[in-house]
Amino acid sequence: MEYPAGEFGLIQRFRDRAKLGSGVRVGIGDDCAVLAATHGCETLVTTDMLMDGRHFRLDEAGPVAVGYKSLAVSLSDIAAMAGKPTAAFVAVALPRADAETLALGLLEGMTALANQFEVTLAGGDTNAWDGPLVICVTVLGTTVPPGPVMRTGARPGDRIFVTGPLGGSLLGRHLRPIPRVTEALALHEAVSLRAMIDVSDGLASDLTHILEESGNLGATLDANAIPIHDDAARISGHDGRSSLDHALNDGEDFELCFVVSHADADRLIEPRDGFSYLRHIGRIDAEPGIRLALGDGRTDLIQPRGFDHLRSHGS
Ligand code: ADP
Ligand code: MG
Repeated sequence: MEYPAGEFGLIQRFRDRAKLGSGVRVGIGDDCAVLAATHGCETLVTTDMLMDGRHFRLDEAGPVAVGYKSLAVSLSDIAAMAGKPTAAFVAVALPRADAETLALGLLEGMTALANQFEVTLAGGDTNAWDGPLVICVTVLGTTVPPGPVMRTGARPGDRIFVTGPLGGSLLGRHLRPIPRVTEALALHEAVSLRAMIDVSDGLASDLTHILEESGNLGATLDANAIPIHDDAARISGHDGRSSLDHALNDGEDFELCFVVSHADADRLIEPRDGFSYLRHIGRIDAEPGIRLALGDGRTDLIQPRGFDHLRSHGS
């Protein structure tokens, strides 16, 4: 098919590529998308803006990777509520030179992921300017009974888990996070998830959000149980920080950190349940602060130093 040059040709291509999922009555092409209401469920909405030079380097990563990441991080937020993603909306500010090639690359990176998770690209906005690439993805999802998992439900004595190894994402993994949508839904069905978050700013920092939102609680983590990614060990060899430090404080892992009761924890740890990828890393305490149990009886108090966009000036 021949497409006209410019914005409308581009949107036409987007429209032809987007498969309409079951919950989307009208997708790209009208003034608004129309989504079906799911009886008894609530709607989840999340939005993330990614800027060239800040969240990625377009010249190094390329448009396909940037497209992938921009959708993946929003799907990860839906996963963190144990929801089902349904529709994505993509607003882009494209650098004028090469705007079309760039947009098609972004679309390619998003399409595979959208299809994998049955998310419809249902709308967006396309602009060009003389500035760098900015891409903003909004994803809608539906809650799954018994409801969304928030950050607020942890209680003293509960157990803390993560869905995979952490740290060193800067070596390249940060560009291709796997949104843990399927894992979250399976967990939500198997146990009562009391609190959950996706690890975007660093485990210590994101766990702190759960602790504060759950009523100023604390936690004790088992230093030997925290799963350390090979990348964390590799980075550690270069910068002298320990790989555990990287696992605790590096961002953009996009694994899930969640809290369940002691009884549910025992259920998840049973090998027959298909949850062998989970790591049980610690417990919730009534006393605020995060303590790291070092295994020899000593404990360290951890100061979270996750990434803060308003405080940091690097990229
Ligand atoms: P309007 O001017 O009414 O806002 P637009 O011309 O901006 O409409 O967009 C036309 C249609 O194309 C809309 O359905 C919009 O959601 C969709 N659209 C525009 N840009 C994108 C994009 N980058 N990705 C997906 N859909 C888009
Ligand atoms: Mg518009």
